[in-house]
Amino acid sequence: MATKPTDLDRMTEPCERCGTETHHDVHVEIRTESAKQKNAQFSREPYRVATCQRCGDEQSQRMNNA
Ligand SMILES: [Zn+2]
Repeated sequence: MATKPTDLDRMTEPCERCGTETHHDVHVEIRTESAKQKNAQFSREPYRVATCQRCGDEQSQRMNNA
């Protein structure tokens, strides 16, 4: 049951704020989006969230790019 950290959890990615590649903590979270328009419907979308370990900048990216 123990989730052991893997190298995949720490990735090197370019950070806009740092202007260089830094280590990022990456996780996936489900965010609820409300569709503002006609559909009064909530969609839950997985986002990939990468937090820069250097400056703390957080970049989220929607995983379903349809
Ligand atoms: Zn950074």
